[in-house]
Amino acid sequence: MKPLLELKDINYSYHTPEGETKALSDITFSLEAGEFTAVVGPSGCGKSTLLSLIDGLMRPESGQLLLNGSTLTDNSSKIGYMLQHDHLFEWRSVYRNVVLGAEINGTLTSEIRRRAHDLLKQYGLEQFARSRPSELSGGMRQRAALIRTLLLEPELLLLDEPFSALDYQTRLKVSDDIGQIIRRSGKTALLVTHDLSEAVSLSDRIIILSARPARVVRIVPISFELENDTPLNRRNAPEFKTYFNEIWKELNKNEQTI
Ligand code: ADP
Repeated sequence: MKPLLELKDINYSYHTPEGETKALSDITFSLEAGEFTAVVGPSGCGKSTLLSLIDGLMRPESGQLLLNGSTLTDNSSKIGYMLQHDHLFEWRSVYRNVVLGAEINGTLTSEIRRRAHDLLKQYGLEQFARSRPSELSGGMRQRAALIRTLLLEPELLLLDEPFSALDYQTRLKVSDDIGQIIRRSGKTALLVTHDLSEAVSLSDRIIILSARPARVVRIVPISFELENDTPLNRRNAPEFKTYFNEIWKELNKNEQTI
């Protein structure tokens, strides 16, 4: 089976009046459908640059980016996002926030409206459908933002530090919750994070990048022998520390901090 996303020898440099900054060097990896992959690397190494290329906001200098075997051109409708901030609008109800993407795309059919209600019900937000976002907890807001994204049926979910605005306790709960929702949805996800614990608790594979210009240093497959394989249960499993230390060491060979 073809991978959902393939990156082949991707290079990218920024050009400014001060000169050239090489951000990505020969990046090659692929994502299988349904896989949850995390990308970790020292800060400033090129993680956001990588997401901007996959998103189609910028074009690689050289190399190939393929989604379902075709060159990524305008794939925006096939790619969904979860960002650090949920970007829910206070002047819209939760339901109207959830359908906003479809409304903008001009795809807000009665079927989509029904699906929006189904998803709100499935993820415990049904009674908040008419509430304002400010009436929701941080975790509920992230759920609403994810439902808004899932409603557009993206093939690939890009998660850019989606929990980093939350305090530590909330962050653990929300990443557990959102991680499980994404798993159940069967979506392919690419998470960029500086939080190694988050990467180990959520993903099937971790791609370790070097300091700038980012190269792929190693790809570590992650698997836990757990009956109920959830992010929170992973954090308490003995393998967790082993993975954490292994990846931490690899990162520190390249840079002192991440
Ligand atoms: P990360 O997300 O890993 O922190 P970025 O992808 O944001 O890293 O940036 C990688 C490097 O590219 C940075 O070290 C920075 O020097 C450079 N860079 C990022 N954006 C720009 C820009 N708009 N112009 C010039 N250089 C940039």
